[in-house]
Parts: sequence; C-alpha cells; structure tokens
Amino acid sequence: MGRAVFLSVVVPMYNEEEVIETTYRRMTQALENLGETYELVFVNDGSRDRTANIVRDLGKSDDRVKLVDFSRNFGHQIAVTAGMDYASGRVVVLIDADLQDPPELIPDMVALWRQGYDVVYGKRTVRKGESWFKKTTASLFYRTLHAMTSVSIPLDTGDFRLMDRKVCDAIGSMRERSRFIRGMVSWAGFRQTALEYVREERFAGETKYPLRKMIRLSLDAITSFSTKPLKFAGILGFVMSAAGFVYLIVVLCQRIFTDTTIQGWTSTIVISLLFHGITLSLLGVLGEYIGRTYEEAKRRPLYLVADTFNLERGEEESDSGRERRREEEPVGRGMRD
Ligand code: UDP
Ligand code: MG
Repeated sequence: MGRAVFLSVVVPMYNEEEVIETTYRRMTQALENLGETYELVFVNDGSRDRTANIVRDLGKSDDRVKLVDFSRNFGHQIAVTAGMDYASGRVVVLIDADLQDPPELIPDMVALWRQGYDVVYGKRTVRKGESWFKKTTASLFYRTLHAMTSVSIPLDTGDFRLMDRKVCDAIGSMRERSRFIRGMVSWAGFRQTALEYVREERFAGETKYPLRKMIRLSLDAITSFSTKPLKFAGILGFVMSAAGFVYLIVVLCQRIFTDTTIQGWTSTIVISLLFHGITLSLLGVLGEYIGRTYEEAKRRPLYLVADTFNLERGEEESDSGRERRREEEPVGRGMRD
C-alpha cells in the first residue's frame, strides 16, 4: 500500500459537537501553512451528540477529513490508538479536539522532526483555565509516576505529540488494553525531544475527563509501568509482621512477669483494625494487577468500529483482521519503504 499523505493528525472526540467545526478550521489553517499533504483522522469515541454527523458533513466537502466511528465509548487512549491504526502519514500527530493544544505548533514539531527527532512531545509550561484541583492532582500524579517507574516518562506532557511512522508502528504493535500512550512512547525509545508550550483553556464545552476517568488512567499508567506497589505490599507485610512479632514478645512478657494482662482491649482492637486495614488494601493492590492480567488474557479487540468515512480500508476489514495482519508482519508497514 502506498503512503498516501505526509502528515496524519489524529483527533479523538467524545461529545465535542461544540468545538469540532472551529477545531477543523484552525487545524486546516495551520496545516495549509505547512504546505505538505495531510489528513485529519477523527475518531468518534461513541459520542451521544452530533459529533460524528458534523465530521461526516465536513468530510463531504474535504476528503482529507476521515472518520473512524466507534460502536460505543471505549475511552480516550483507545480512540487515539484506533486513529494511529488508520493513520497513513509519514508522521503522525496526536492532538485533543478542544484546541487546548494549539495546532499552530504542528509546523514547529515537523521542523524538529526534520532535524532528526522521531518523537516531539509537547511539554506544558503553563496550564490555563484548569481548576486548582486538576492541576494539583495532575502534578502529583506525574511525580508519583516518575518515582515509581523505571521508564522515564517526561513530566507535564500529555498526548499532544508528533511521532515518526516507525514509532507509530511500534506503539500500534503493542496491543495491551491498559494503555497509557505517553508511557508507551517513552518505553519505545528512539530520539525524542520536548517542545514547550502553553496549554490553553478548553474553548467550549467541558472536560470529558471526570475524576473517575483520571483515576483509571493513573492506575493504568502505574500498573502498566511499575510493579513497585506489589513490592511495597511485600515489604509492608514483612515490616508489619516483624513489628507484630516484637509486640507478641512484649505481651508474653507482661503475661508471665506482671499481672496486668486483662487491660489489653484497646491494643487488641487497634492491632486488629490496623492489620485488617493493611491486609485489605494490599489485597486491593493485588486485585488491580490480577484484574488487568485477566483483561489482557481475554485478548479481545481493543475497539469495535461501527463505520468509517473517507477511509477506503477498514470498511471490510475488522480490527481483529488488522491484528492478524500485524502478527504476520511484525516489522510493521514503515520498514518496507
Ligand atoms: N475523549 C475521548 N474519549 C473519552 C474522553 C475524552 O475521545 O472517553 C477525548 C476528548 O474529546 C478530547 C480528548 O479526549 O478530544 C481530551 O479530553 P478532555 O479535553 O475532555 O480532557 P482534559 O483536557 O480536560 O484533560
Ligand atoms: Mg481538554
């Protein structure tokens, strides 16, 4: 299959009807200045509003607009993955639909790519219009993750980035369900560099990332890139049982050498609550890992596509078909030309 375009922009969308036309216009303007062929791969992640229809309408007059329409909401990271699967460009850019990441930076990213970098990731210096809570939790999250993982995932970077075809293929060949794409890109290696930018306010609509989804993403990130919580569980268990053993000796000595035995109610309750609390939370940690192992073991397709628009492949080809082809040719498409 010949490479169709130079640049693919992947845009995941979940209920973005308020922003998508403006986004299209600003992206088109920024990309036209670049003077290269491009496509906009919009992925509709099961929106309940008019998002998909708007993209279809745009695609009728502009065949650079492509749509992958999911059968339901599969989540942001999976939507990005699908967009990367369908993207055909020599370079692939991931960007949010809400213009928080300025598309005007894409030419700068391309310039760095031309200098020989395979990944150019956006690094946020300032985050505008986001709540104190979001900024604090995000900052805490990046630093915890940094402390926990051996893969060095750059601080304060989101998914806004440019990737060379070979990096995109490498990430596409990893079919795990718990996806934390920025971590996977770090893991992949290659020559990477940062491009600093100011993260703008979402210009319309509200965040599609409620606390629940943020917690899920953080847990996916930590469990995918670190087994430290498991090791911590083991260490804590060991320390607590050592402490318990010391206290056992103290209690036995009291029993044998003094006559203050009956007064142990408070300490009994405290120890019992403490140990049960610790045991249950450690079981929770185990559960997080076991649950994910189970999900991976099922090997279901990452997403189901209900329909595509302006994309010739994909219509007759299901995601599982794509996966099968990948297993036959593990080197990926980019290596052939
Ligand atoms: N998004 C998605 N599926 C979801 C949630 C979000 O495709 O389940 C998209 C959303 O439309 C946007 C991007 O992911 O293009 C980032 O989401 P959002 O801007 O709401 O997150 P925030 O910037 O508040 O962290
Ligand atoms: Mg946003």
